[in-house]
Amino acid sequence: MRLRFDDHDRDALGMTYVYPVVSRRARGVSIGINLNPNNACNWRCVYCQVPDLTQGKAPPVDLALLEEELTAMLERLVHSDWMERNVPEGSRRLNDIAFSGNGEPTSADAFPEVVALVRRKLDAFPSLAPTKLVLITNGSLVHLEHVQRGLVHLAAGRGEVWFKLDGGTDAFLARFNGDRVGAQRRERNLALAARLAPTWVQTMALAWNGEPPPEREREAYLALLGRVLAGGSRLEGVHLYGLARPSHQVEAPDLSPLDPAWMEAFADRIRALGLEVTVSV
Ligand code: SF4
Repeated sequence: MRLRFDDHDRDALGMTYVYPVVSRRARGVSIGINLNPNNACNWRCVYCQVPDLTQGKAPPVDLALLEEELTAMLERLVHSDWMERNVPEGSRRLNDIAFSGNGEPTSADAFPEVVALVRRKLDAFPSLAPTKLVLITNGSLVHLEHVQRGLVHLAAGRGEVWFKLDGGTDAFLARFNGDRVGAQRRERNLALAARLAPTWVQTMALAWNGEPPPEREREAYLALLGRVLAGGSRLEGVHLYGLARPSHQVEAPDLSPLDPAWMEAFADRIRALGLEVTVSV
């Protein structure tokens, strides 16, 4: 198996939970932990790249199998020529271990136990000690106690949260993300996540039927971020993404990337809040 920059196939190694991807931007390998092999999420984002996405939560995690797969993967990285054989030159380093998969990872009841297990495994490979942990989450469950325990483990293990925030009004979040709970809970959960662990906001901006997000939506999004900051929460910054890979949802034909100049102009408005912003188009 040779990893390609454009190939994020989560079945690449035939494992249930663990999959490697290589990132051109990070110039390194990311080990993904997919806690949703059932392709189930509590949201339905129009741009979601999960094929056959269903509504639901992660199934019970087989912690023994996850540990076995992760150990095998880390052994390969440290004690074999796996990198030389499978990863393009210039990217042969482990950049991070990411809780990111075919659904919302924090919907797994065992999420805190999984984070603790991954930390323990990393500690068993001293040469991988600087590797950071990343939780890629829609943030919808941060108010739950088991998720908060997971975030505490994450923060203790050089981890960070990437919290999805694509808009600032109930109507937009319902249409764009399938989030029926709304903006107030988004705001509270973002502030809570930021108190528990270093937190980046991840934001997708795209054109839908040729139209960028309406100005009132951008204003509501900026106001929400501003209130979180004014409330004393520290945010690491914002990762602003464009539509780089095709959606697997029915809306796919109606979605298109925004002009890079539009993305930069929006990034500047976020920077005006005092936040660092990275832009990927
Ligand atoms: S939160 Fe993530 S996995 Fe869930 S629908 Fe949105 S993009 Fe897909």
